[in-house]
Order: sequence, then structure tokens, then C-alpha cells
Amino acid sequence: MDGEDLANNDREEITHEEKEIAHEEFLEQNDSDEFLDEFGCSVCLLVAVQPTSLTCGHTFCRICLAKWYLTSKKKQCPLCGQAYQGHPQINIHIKNMSARLYPKQMKEREKLLELSLEDKTILQRFDKEILNKRPDRKTVGAFCLGITLTLLVFTSAYLTWFWQFSDIHSFTAKPVQFWKPSDVKDWLDDLSWTTEYIHNDIQNNIDGNILLAMDELSLLQHFNVSEPLYQKALLSAISKLKEQGVKMPSTLWEYTADDMNTS
Ligand SMILES: [Zn+2]
Ligand SMILES: [Zn+2]
Repeated sequence: MDGEDLANNDREEITHEEKEIAHEEFLEQNDSDEFLDEFGCSVCLLVAVQPTSLTCGHTFCRICLAKWYLTSKKKQCPLCGQAYQGHPQINIHIKNMSARLYPKQMKEREKLLELSLEDKTILQRFDKEILNKRPDRKTVGAFCLGITLTLLVFTSAYLTWFWQFSDIHSFTAKPVQFWKPSDVKDWLDDLSWTTEYIHNDIQNNIDGNILLAMDELSLLQHFNVSEPLYQKALLSAISKLKEQGVKMPSTLWEYTADDMNTS
């Protein structure tokens, strides 16, 4: 019985040892350049020690990144130049994978880093400076510009909506481009002398933009104005509209309406 147990134990020990050796061999085989693209640092071209990933996805040794930052004083990726925000941290996932794939190189590099007082100082300076670094002027400028542009877009969108869909303003203060056919009709009625020449049913589809683009021929076509004198008068009224962009109030009622709208 005892002899059998011993033999079994021996066999187990051997298989355990064999496993260990196989594992070591496996790791040794993999301690190659095969995955260096993924786990290597693009600055020193070695397996990244304390691998630190940036927002662009590139990974570097923390010490390489620190040296790069302290030289350039810019929070930029050394490889693609993309700016990064905040305080980049060691990528634990890549660190663990590198430790498994490149055990020798990683141990060696970590040991060297641990022994170098200069590197330690550089890393401390990097951490300290990057935590205290305020966003540079360019970033602040771009941020302000972004806000201004957004406000402008919203304001113009609101005004477009306001002029197109809101009826609370009298057409006297409304830019001619936004005139509806009813505004054009009001404007024509306002000219008083046109009523006997222009028929209501013809004016229905003429909006502000069409009105501004009119010439003698279209006056004849759309408003049936053939009399040269009236054509001239109407064209000069239209060109006045073009100049002013809006219809200036001409009656007391329009002045009052305009005043109420602007106040
Ligand atoms: Zn490196
Ligand atoms: Zn990058």
C-alpha cells in the first residue's frame, strides 16, 4: 500500500513539474516581438513599462510619456499628436497582458525603473504638473468660440421660425424675405393706387422673395400691370423695399404697431 501511494505521489509531482516546465517554455516562446505592436511603446520601441493609454488609444511607457510631456509641455499624444484631457492612468489590462507575454523584459524594465532616481523624479514631476495644468488658452478660446457659434445658430434659427410662423408682428417690421402672400397683398393694398389695376386672385401666390425678384415682365404676368407709368412706380416701390429690407411704417398705426413690437 505504502509503496503504491509513494509511486502515485511521485507521478503527481512529475506531472506538476512537467506542467510548470511547459508553462515556462510557453512563456519563453511568447517572449518575442510577435505582439510588440500592441504592447510596445512607440517612443522607445520596447515593451511598455507602466503602460499608459491616452484618449486616442495609443499606449506608451509612463516614463516615456512623462519625458515627452516635460520636454514639449503639451498634453499631446507623441504618436498622433491628438490632445488628451485629464490625468492619464496606467492601463492595468495591458500591464497584465504584457507581464504574461513578456515576463523577462517586463521584470527587467520595472527593476531598472525602480532603481533610477532620475526616472522617479521625472514621473513625480509629470504627475504633479499634469494635475495642476489648466486648460491652455487655445482650448479656452475654442470653447468660447463654440458657445458663440451655437448661440448665433440658435438665434438665427429662432428668428427664422419667428418670422415664418409667428403672426404677432405686423408685416412692417418683418424682413421682406419672410413675407407671406398675405403680407405682399397688405403691402400692395397700402400703395392704394394699385387696387384698381391689380386683382386679388392674381396676387395669391406671390411671397416676399418672388416680389423682390420682379421685373417689368413679371409685373405684367403676375399683377397684370401693363401701364408703363404704374410699372415704373411699382418697380421703384419694390427697389425701395430691397434697399430697406423691411417696409418702413408709413401710417400712424404702423408706427404704433412697430413701436409695440420693438419695445
Ligand atoms: Zn517607452
Ligand atoms: Zn495617439
